[in-house]
Amino acid sequence: MINVPKILLIYTGGTIGMRRDYPSGSLKPFDFQKVLDEIPELRLLQCDIEHCAIARPIDSSDMHPQVWIEIVEIIDQKYHSYDGFVILHGSDTMSYTASALSFLLQHLDKAVILTGSQLPIGDLRTDAKENLITAIQIASLTTNGKPSIREVCLYFEYKLYRGNRTTKISAEQFEAFDSPNYPPLITSGVHLEVQTDILLKNMGQLPFKSYKSMECSVGILKLFPGITKDFVEAVLLKSDLKGVVLESFGSGNTTTSNWFIDLLEDMVNKGFPIVNVTQCSGGEVSMGVYGTSVELKRIGIISGKDITTEAAITKLMFLLANDPGDYQHLKLKFEESIAGEIS
Ligand code: ASP
Repeated sequence: MINVPKILLIYTGGTIGMRRDYPSGSLKPFDFQKVLDEIPELRLLQCDIEHCAIARPIDSSDMHPQVWIEIVEIIDQKYHSYDGFVILHGSDTMSYTASALSFLLQHLDKAVILTGSQLPIGDLRTDAKENLITAIQIASLTTNGKPSIREVCLYFEYKLYRGNRTTKISAEQFEAFDSPNYPPLITSGVHLEVQTDILLKNMGQLPFKSYKSMECSVGILKLFPGITKDFVEAVLLKSDLKGVVLESFGSGNTTTSNWFIDLLEDMVNKGFPIVNVTQCSGGEVSMGVYGTSVELKRIGIISGKDITTEAAITKLMFLLANDPGDYQHLKLKFEESIAGEIS
Protein backbone atom coordinates (compact mmCIF):
# COMPACT_ATOMS: atom_id res chain seq x y z
CA MET A 1 0.00 0.00 0.00
CA ILE A 2 1.27 3.52 -0.87
CA ASN A 3 1.80 5.86 2.06
CA VAL A 4 -0.38 8.92 1.66
CA PRO A 5 0.05 12.06 3.78
CA LYS A 6 -2.11 12.31 6.88
CA ILE A 7 -3.68 15.73 7.39
CA LEU A 8 -5.50 16.91 10.49
CA LEU A 9 -8.27 19.50 10.01
CA ILE A 10 -8.78 21.58 13.13
CA TYR A 11 -12.11 23.36 13.18
CA THR A 12 -12.29 26.57 15.24
CA GLY A 13 -15.47 28.15 13.81
CA GLY A 14 -16.15 31.02 11.42
CA THR A 15 -18.27 31.32 8.30
CA ILE A 16 -16.65 28.28 6.70
CA GLY A 17 -18.38 26.01 9.21
CA MET A 18 -21.80 27.61 8.90
CA ARG A 19 -24.87 26.85 6.85
CA ARG A 20 -27.51 29.29 5.76
CA ASP A 21 -30.82 28.66 7.45
CA TYR A 22 -32.99 29.47 4.42
CA PRO A 23 -36.27 30.32 6.17
CA SER A 24 -34.58 32.95 8.36
CA GLY A 25 -31.60 33.73 6.11
CA SER A 26 -29.23 33.68 9.11
CA LEU A 27 -25.96 31.75 9.39
CA LYS A 28 -25.86 28.84 11.84
CA PRO A 29 -22.99 26.46 12.67
CA PHE A 30 -23.36 23.05 11.02
CA ASP A 31 -22.25 19.74 12.47
CA PHE A 32 -18.61 19.63 11.39
CA GLN A 33 -18.65 15.81 11.60
CA LYS A 34 -20.51 16.08 8.30
CA VAL A 35 -17.77 18.02 6.49
CA LEU A 36 -17.13 15.11 4.12
CA ASP A 37 -20.82 15.08 3.14
CA GLU A 38 -20.70 18.83 2.50
CA ILE A 39 -17.59 18.54 0.32
CA PRO A 40 -17.54 15.03 -1.19
CA GLU A 41 -14.61 16.16 -3.36
CA LEU A 42 -12.40 15.85 -0.26
CA ARG A 43 -12.59 12.06 -0.70
CA LEU A 44 -10.77 12.44 -4.03
CA LEU A 45 -7.67 14.00 -2.48
CA GLN A 46 -4.57 11.84 -2.26
CA CYS A 47 -4.35 12.05 1.51
CA ASP A 48 -5.96 10.76 4.68
CA ILE A 49 -8.03 13.45 6.33
CA GLU A 50 -9.04 13.38 9.97
CA HIS A 51 -10.64 16.19 11.87
CA CYS A 52 -11.15 17.56 15.33
CA ALA A 53 -12.44 20.81 16.81
CA ILE A 54 -11.63 23.15 19.65
CA ALA A 55 -13.89 22.76 22.70
CA ARG A 56 -16.20 25.62 21.72
CA PRO A 57 -16.03 26.73 18.06
CA ILE A 58 -16.44 30.51 17.77
CA ASP A 59 -16.91 33.41 15.43
CA SER A 60 -13.30 34.57 15.19
CA SER A 61 -14.19 38.01 16.51
CA ASP A 62 -14.38 36.21 19.87
CA MET A 63 -10.83 34.91 19.44
CA HIS A 64 -8.64 35.03 22.55
CA PRO A 65 -5.03 34.03 23.31
CA GLN A 66 -6.41 31.16 25.42
CA VAL A 67 -7.85 29.66 22.24
CA TRP A 68 -4.45 30.04 20.53
CA ILE A 69 -2.98 27.98 23.37
CA GLU A 70 -5.77 25.40 22.92
CA ILE A 71 -4.82 25.11 19.23
CA VAL A 72 -1.13 24.84 20.15
CA GLU A 73 -1.97 22.02 22.57
CA ILE A 74 -3.85 20.10 19.87
CA ILE A 75 -0.95 20.45 17.41
CA ASP A 76 1.61 19.66 20.08
CA GLN A 77 -0.14 16.43 21.08
CA LYS A 78 -0.72 15.30 17.51
CA TYR A 79 2.44 16.71 15.92
CA HIS A 80 4.10 13.38 15.21
CA SER A 81 0.91 11.61 14.07
CA TYR A 82 0.20 13.88 11.08
CA ASP A 83 2.11 15.22 8.08
CA GLY A 84 0.34 18.58 8.05
CA PHE A 85 -2.36 20.64 9.73
CA VAL A 86 -5.16 22.77 8.28
CA ILE A 87 -6.96 25.11 10.65
CA LEU A 88 -10.45 26.30 9.71
CA HIS A 89 -10.91 29.75 11.13
CA GLY A 90 -13.09 32.83 10.69
CA SER A 91 -11.46 35.43 8.50
CA ASP A 92 -11.96 38.40 10.83
CA THR A 93 -9.01 37.65 13.11
CA MET A 94 -7.26 35.00 11.05
CA SER A 95 -4.15 37.15 10.58
CA TYR A 96 -3.80 37.59 14.35
CA THR A 97 -4.10 33.83 14.93
CA ALA A 98 -1.67 33.06 12.10
CA SER A 99 0.84 35.54 13.55
CA ALA A 100 0.44 34.23 17.11
CA LEU A 101 0.83 30.60 16.00
CA SER A 102 3.98 31.44 14.03
CA PHE A 103 5.61 32.48 17.34
CA LEU A 104 4.04 29.75 19.49
CA LEU A 105 4.96 26.89 17.09
CA GLN A 106 8.64 27.20 16.22
CA HIS A 107 10.98 25.17 13.99
CA LEU A 108 8.09 23.45 12.22
CA ASP A 109 8.99 20.72 9.77
CA LYS A 110 5.45 20.50 8.38
CA ALA A 111 2.75 22.91 7.26
CA VAL A 112 0.21 24.61 9.51
CA ILE A 113 -2.25 26.32 7.14
CA LEU A 114 -5.14 28.54 8.20
CA THR A 115 -8.06 28.96 5.88
CA GLY A 116 -11.69 30.00 5.93
CA SER A 117 -14.18 31.60 3.60
CA GLN A 118 -16.31 34.64 2.94
CA LEU A 119 -19.40 32.53 2.17
CA PRO A 120 -20.56 29.41 4.05
CA ILE A 121 -19.73 25.97 2.71
CA GLY A 122 -23.32 25.27 1.60
CA ASP A 123 -23.80 28.49 -0.43
CA LEU A 124 -23.95 28.05 -4.20
CA ARG A 125 -21.17 30.58 -4.82
CA THR A 126 -19.10 29.57 -1.83
CA ASP A 127 -15.35 30.15 -1.78
CA ALA A 128 -15.04 27.56 1.01
CA LYS A 129 -14.53 24.55 -1.23
CA GLU A 130 -11.59 25.90 -3.21
CA ASN A 131 -9.97 27.34 -0.11
CA LEU A 132 -10.29 24.12 1.87
CA ILE A 133 -9.38 21.69 -0.91
CA THR A 134 -6.29 23.64 -2.00
CA ALA A 135 -5.16 24.27 1.59
CA ILE A 136 -5.25 20.49 2.18
CA GLN A 137 -3.43 19.85 -1.08
CA ILE A 138 -0.70 22.32 -0.14
CA ALA A 139 -0.35 20.84 3.35
CA SER A 140 0.18 17.47 1.64
CA LEU A 141 2.86 18.67 -0.79
CA THR A 142 6.21 16.96 -0.43
CA THR A 143 9.72 17.55 -1.71
CA ASN A 144 12.13 14.60 -1.47
CA GLY A 145 9.65 12.81 0.79
CA LYS A 146 9.39 15.69 3.29
CA PRO A 147 6.67 18.35 3.63
CA SER A 148 7.43 21.22 1.23
CA ILE A 149 5.88 23.90 3.45
CA ARG A 150 7.26 24.15 6.97
CA GLU A 151 5.71 27.22 8.45
CA VAL A 152 2.42 28.79 9.53
CA CYS A 153 0.59 30.02 6.44
CA LEU A 154 -2.74 31.46 5.40
CA TYR A 155 -4.48 30.25 2.25
CA PHE A 156 -7.23 32.34 0.70
CA GLU A 157 -8.47 32.91 -2.84
CA TYR A 158 -5.72 31.19 -4.83
CA LYS A 159 -2.79 32.44 -2.74
CA LEU A 160 -0.75 30.95 0.05
CA TYR A 161 0.81 33.63 2.23
CA ARG A 162 3.22 33.59 5.14
CA GLY A 163 0.61 33.90 7.90
CA ASN A 164 2.40 36.53 9.96
CA ARG A 165 2.70 38.84 6.93
CA THR A 166 -1.03 39.00 6.23
CA THR A 167 -3.78 41.43 7.01
CA LYS A 168 -7.51 41.28 6.28
CA ILE A 169 -8.29 43.94 3.66
CA SER A 170 -11.87 43.26 2.60
CA ALA A 171 -15.14 42.25 4.22
CA GLU A 172 -16.68 41.91 0.76
CA GLN A 173 -14.23 40.53 -1.81
CA PHE A 174 -13.27 36.87 -1.97
CA GLU A 175 -9.71 38.21 -2.03
CA ALA A 176 -9.98 39.12 1.64
CA PHE A 177 -6.27 39.13 2.54
CA ASP A 178 -3.11 40.81 1.44
CA SER A 179 0.53 40.46 2.36
CA PRO A 180 1.83 43.91 1.44
CA ASN A 181 5.46 43.40 2.46
CA TYR A 182 6.08 39.78 1.42
CA PRO A 183 5.11 37.99 -1.81
CA PRO A 184 2.77 34.97 -1.88
CA LEU A 185 4.55 31.68 -1.23
CA ILE A 186 2.30 29.80 -3.65
CA THR A 187 -0.08 30.95 -6.36
CA SER A 188 -2.75 28.49 -7.32
CA GLY A 189 -3.65 28.39 -11.01
CA VAL A 190 -3.79 25.38 -13.27
CA HIS A 191 -0.66 24.37 -11.36
CA LEU A 192 0.51 25.26 -7.88
CA GLU A 193 3.39 27.68 -8.43
CA VAL A 194 5.66 27.32 -5.42
CA GLN A 195 8.18 30.12 -4.76
CA THR A 196 10.75 27.79 -3.21
CA ASP A 197 13.34 30.53 -2.59
CA ILE A 198 11.19 32.52 -0.21
CA LEU A 199 9.90 29.71 1.99
CA LEU A 200 10.94 29.68 5.63
CA LYS A 201 13.76 27.20 6.11
CA ASN A 202 14.60 25.54 9.38
CA MET A 203 18.26 25.65 8.37
CA GLY A 204 19.69 24.47 11.67
CA GLN A 205 17.22 21.57 11.72
CA LEU A 206 16.20 22.60 15.22
CA PRO A 207 13.55 20.36 16.79
CA PHE A 208 9.94 21.54 16.86
CA LYS A 209 9.18 23.58 19.97
CA SER A 210 5.85 24.85 21.20
CA TYR A 211 5.11 27.62 23.70
CA LYS A 212 1.99 27.94 25.79
CA SER A 213 1.79 31.42 27.20
CA MET A 214 1.02 34.92 26.00
CA GLU A 215 0.97 38.21 27.92
CA CYS A 216 -2.42 39.85 27.39
CA SER A 217 -1.69 43.18 29.11
CA VAL A 218 -0.61 44.93 25.93
CA GLY A 219 -2.25 47.53 23.73
CA ILE A 220 -2.27 49.31 20.37
CA LEU A 221 -2.11 53.09 20.34
CA LYS A 222 -3.07 54.54 16.95
CA LEU A 223 -2.00 58.13 16.44
CA PHE A 224 -4.20 60.71 14.73
CA PRO A 225 -3.79 64.44 14.21
CA GLY A 226 -4.99 66.19 17.37
CA ILE A 227 -4.49 63.23 19.73
CA THR A 228 -4.58 64.62 23.28
CA LYS A 229 -2.16 64.33 26.15
CA ASP A 230 -5.01 63.01 28.33
CA PHE A 231 -5.72 60.18 25.95
CA VAL A 232 -2.08 59.11 25.55
CA GLU A 233 -1.54 59.35 29.32
CA ALA A 234 -4.65 57.24 29.93
CA VAL A 235 -3.19 54.52 27.73
CA LEU A 236 0.41 54.67 28.91
CA LEU A 237 0.15 55.75 32.54
CA LYS A 238 -3.29 54.95 33.85
CA SER A 239 -3.51 51.42 32.57
CA ASP A 240 -1.70 48.34 33.75
CA LEU A 241 -0.11 47.53 30.42
CA LYS A 242 3.24 45.81 30.00
CA GLY A 243 3.90 47.13 26.50
CA VAL A 244 2.36 49.03 23.60
CA VAL A 245 2.43 48.96 19.81
CA LEU A 246 2.40 52.55 18.56
CA GLU A 247 0.82 52.95 15.12
CA SER A 248 2.61 55.98 13.71
CA PHE A 249 2.38 57.86 10.42
CA GLY A 250 4.28 57.00 7.22
CA SER A 251 7.80 55.76 7.83
CA GLY A 252 7.41 55.91 11.62
CA ASN A 253 6.69 59.59 12.24
CA THR A 254 4.79 61.14 15.15
CA THR A 255 3.87 64.50 16.53
CA THR A 256 6.94 66.33 17.85
CA SER A 257 5.02 67.97 20.74
CA ASN A 258 7.21 68.10 23.82
CA TRP A 259 4.58 66.46 26.07
CA PHE A 260 4.47 63.46 23.71
CA ILE A 261 8.22 62.95 23.32
CA ASP A 262 8.83 63.50 27.07
CA LEU A 263 6.17 60.96 27.99
CA LEU A 264 7.59 58.36 25.62
CA GLU A 265 11.10 58.99 26.93
CA ASP A 266 9.94 58.54 30.55
CA MET A 267 8.23 55.28 29.66
CA VAL A 268 11.28 53.88 27.84
CA ASN A 269 13.52 54.91 30.76
CA LYS A 270 11.22 52.88 33.02
CA GLY A 271 11.80 49.88 30.72
CA PHE A 272 8.32 49.99 29.17
CA PRO A 273 8.43 48.61 25.60
CA ILE A 274 6.94 50.80 22.86
CA VAL A 275 7.06 49.33 19.36
CA ASN A 276 6.80 51.70 16.40
CA VAL A 277 4.81 50.31 13.45
CA THR A 278 3.40 52.23 10.51
CA GLN A 279 -0.30 52.86 9.89
CA CYS A 280 0.42 52.39 6.15
CA SER A 281 -0.48 48.99 4.80
CA GLY A 282 2.84 48.69 2.96
CA GLY A 283 6.39 49.90 3.56
CA GLU A 284 8.34 50.19 6.76
CA VAL A 285 9.33 52.22 9.78
CA SER A 286 12.66 53.91 9.33
CA MET A 287 13.24 56.24 12.25
CA GLY A 288 15.50 59.18 11.55
CA VAL A 289 14.52 59.68 7.90
CA TYR A 290 12.24 62.62 8.80
CA GLY A 291 12.73 65.15 11.58
CA THR A 292 9.47 63.84 13.04
CA SER A 293 11.07 60.53 14.00
CA VAL A 294 14.60 61.60 14.98
CA GLU A 295 13.63 61.94 18.63
CA LEU A 296 12.01 58.49 18.68
CA LYS A 297 15.28 57.00 17.51
CA ARG A 298 17.26 58.88 20.15
CA ILE A 299 14.90 57.70 22.91
CA GLY A 300 15.37 54.08 21.82
CA ILE A 301 11.83 53.27 20.71
CA ILE A 302 11.68 49.73 19.27
CA SER A 303 11.42 49.63 15.46
CA GLY A 304 8.76 47.34 14.06
CA LYS A 305 10.35 47.86 10.60
CA ASP A 306 7.96 46.28 8.06
CA ILE A 307 5.97 44.12 10.48
CA THR A 308 2.16 44.16 10.37
CA THR A 309 0.23 45.41 13.40
CA GLU A 310 -1.22 41.90 13.83
CA ALA A 311 2.25 40.36 14.01
CA ALA A 312 3.58 43.20 16.20
CA ILE A 313 0.96 42.86 18.92
CA THR A 314 1.18 39.05 19.03
CA LYS A 315 5.00 39.16 19.00
CA LEU A 316 4.91 41.53 21.95
CA MET A 317 2.50 39.17 23.77
CA PHE A 318 4.84 36.28 22.97
CA LEU A 319 8.14 37.91 23.94
CA LEU A 320 6.82 39.39 27.19
CA ALA A 321 5.56 35.97 28.25
CA ASN A 322 8.32 33.71 26.99
CA ASP A 323 11.55 35.66 26.71
CA PRO A 324 11.64 38.05 29.64
CA GLY A 325 14.62 40.32 30.01
CA ASP A 326 15.38 44.01 30.24
CA TYR A 327 14.35 46.65 27.71
CA GLN A 328 17.47 46.25 25.55
CA HIS A 329 16.99 42.48 25.39
CA LEU A 330 13.37 42.88 24.31
CA LYS A 331 14.34 45.54 21.74
CA LEU A 332 16.98 43.25 20.28
CA LYS A 333 14.62 40.28 20.15
CA PHE A 334 11.77 42.30 18.69
CA GLU A 335 13.86 43.76 15.91
CA GLU A 336 15.03 40.36 14.67
CA SER A 337 12.92 37.76 12.93
CA ILE A 338 11.46 34.79 14.79
CA ALA A 339 9.39 33.34 11.95
CA GLY A 340 9.96 35.57 8.94
CA GLU A 341 7.59 38.29 10.19
CA ILE A 342 10.10 41.13 9.83
CA SER A 343 12.66 41.77 7.11
N1 ASP B 1 -17.26 36.79 11.47
C1 ASP B 1 -16.69 35.66 10.79
C2 ASP B 1 -15.48 35.19 11.59
O1 ASP B 1 -14.46 35.78 11.52
C3 ASP B 1 -16.31 36.02 9.40
C4 ASP B 1 -15.66 34.90 8.62
O2 ASP B 1 -15.63 33.75 8.99
O3 ASP B 1 -15.14 35.16 7.54
O4 ASP B 1 -15.59 34.22 12.32
